[in-house]
Amino acid sequence: MASTEIESLTQALSRLPGLGPRSARRAVLWLIKRRETSLVQLLGALEAVREGLVECATCGNVDTRNPCGICADAKRDPRSLCVVEDVADLWALDRARLFTGRYHVLGGRLSALDGVRPEDLTIPALIERVAAGGIDEVVLAMNATLEGQTTAHYIAERLEGYPVRITQLAHGLPVGGELDYLDEGTLAQALRARRPMG
Ligand SMILES: [Zn+2]
Repeated sequence: MASTEIESLTQALSRLPGLGPRSARRAVLWLIKRRETSLVQLLGALEAVREGLVECATCGNVDTRNPCGICADAKRDPRSLCVVEDVADLWALDRARLFTGRYHVLGGRLSALDGVRPEDLTIPALIERVAAGGIDEVVLAMNATLEGQTTAHYIAERLEGYPVRITQLAHGLPVGGELDYLDEGTLAQALRARRPMG
C-alpha cells in the first residue's frame, strides 16, 4: 500500500485529461525519483501558473495580463474576429500563424445532452462585441463535431442582421475532429479556405 500522500497525488494526477490511474502512478514514481530536480521544477511551474495567469476579460484567453497579449497587440486586425470553443483551440489556431485578427473564446459548446445553453457560454458577450461595431468578419472555428456545428449555426443565426461577413473553417476538417489535435498545416489550410456560412 502506498502512503496517503502518494495516494492523494496519484488521485489528483489521474484526473488530468489523458491520464488514467495507471499512468498517474507511473508519473508519481517518476517524480519521486527526481524530487530535487523535476519535482521542484514542476512545483515552480504550477505556482507560477496559479499566481500569474488571468483570464482576458475581452476574449477569454488565458495569459499573464488582462487584456491578453493578443487583444493588446495593435498589429492585429481588430475587424476580424475568430470564435473558438476553448482556449486550447485559440492556441492551436494561433500556432498556425495564419489568422491575424482577434479571438473570442466561448468556453464550450451548446449541448442539449449536457444542458449547456447559450447563456452558459460567452455567446451574449460575443453578440455585444459584434453589436459594438468595428468588426467586418466573424470566423466560426468550431470543432467538426455535431455540437460544434450546432453551436456555429446558432451563432450565425444570432448574428443575422449585423453588418458582418460570417465564415467558417473549410470542410476537409475530419468529422468529429477537435481543432487542437490537428497539425498546423491542416489548420492553416482550413482557415485559408474558409467559406461563407450557409
Ligand atoms: Zn484577449
